[in-house]
Amino acid sequence: MSEKSPRLRAELDGIPTYKPGRPAAAGGPVAYKLSSNENPYPPLQGVLESAVAAAGNFNRYPDMACTGLVNEIAERFGVPVEHVATGTGSVGVAQSLIQSTAGPGDEVMYAWRSFEAYPIIAQISGATSVQVPLTEGDVHDLDAMAEAITERTRLIFVCNPNNPTGTAVRRAELERFLDRVPSDVLVVLDEAYREFVRDADVPDGIELYRSRPNVAVLRTFSKAYGLAGLRVGFAVAHEPVAAALRKTAVPFGVSQLAQDAAVASLRAEDELLGRVGSLVCERNRVHETLLAQGWTVPDTQANFVWLRLGERTAEFAAACEKAGVVVRPFAGEGLRVTIGETEANDLFLHTAGAFFKGL
Ligand code: PMP
Repeated sequence: MSEKSPRLRAELDGIPTYKPGRPAAAGGPVAYKLSSNENPYPPLQGVLESAVAAAGNFNRYPDMACTGLVNEIAERFGVPVEHVATGTGSVGVAQSLIQSTAGPGDEVMYAWRSFEAYPIIAQISGATSVQVPLTEGDVHDLDAMAEAITERTRLIFVCNPNNPTGTAVRRAELERFLDRVPSDVLVVLDEAYREFVRDADVPDGIELYRSRPNVAVLRTFSKAYGLAGLRVGFAVAHEPVAAALRKTAVPFGVSQLAQDAAVASLRAEDELLGRVGSLVCERNRVHETLLAQGWTVPDTQANFVWLRLGERTAEFAAACEKAGVVVRPFAGEGLRVTIGETEANDLFLHTAGAFFKGL
């Protein structure tokens, strides 16, 4: 028998590990999970019923083309069905976008810090990550990104609003940036948190995509629609990008439960977006209270806030956890806190107030 282990691709060396938000510890007095930007509301009854109905058929493969869901998305957003591609969460679609555009020797650009899956999926594809630091105010530095484009740039993510800072780029600067990007470079507007945006100057990527063949928009059912556990997301993109996404997607990657629940969610959108409205009110309350406590918190257009705590990040994360709130620390940088149920937000704010006094 050979002593050698199977030969793996060298590109896999050093891939950063995705660190999911920790669950709340069992057995604590109170335990709220504010670490994964999830929606705190339980599933709507009608959505649950559609998923349960689909579960009765799980001996069968799902509709691989996600026909019903694609039709519903196309109608909802006023785009051709051929321009809609679904996937296993929007992270699955993001991975397909990279696999469709970039391999070894090619560059994938994004701001940093941003969504932590970008470096992972770029490296899986063998592409080189080009990370352009956020500005001092934790916003995308679109001028620096435009200047960093090379002949090898194949894909650029603009995470809008940005995870984990919550900051968003506005229409004029984004359009100016898009005008500078060569037409053979794909720009992916990752709008996982779009439904939480209230600043009217932050553009809807689907409006930008219409006149720009090199723009793709990523959306998800995980956040505003509350289906994180079902894993369904989609892109809106022109041909041939959308066609490439259909080719590179994992076959049957979206379960029938997820498809049917996503359709039911779009049909129950008024109610779900009403919940988003309540979460936005809570977000504004949390943001204002933190400012009043003395914290510096960037403006957020998402369902989370960002506290740049530097070396004290771990200490504050531990204090939150002791108080019964699990948050998301980024070692040595800062802390992201999801907007959750009112009691959870109150508990967090109480802890933040006490911690700030000790700073
Ligand atoms: N994009 C961004 C910016 C995110 O924050 C996330 C989830 N954390 C995703 C994409 C992926 O979400 P999902 O795969 O659940 O659709």
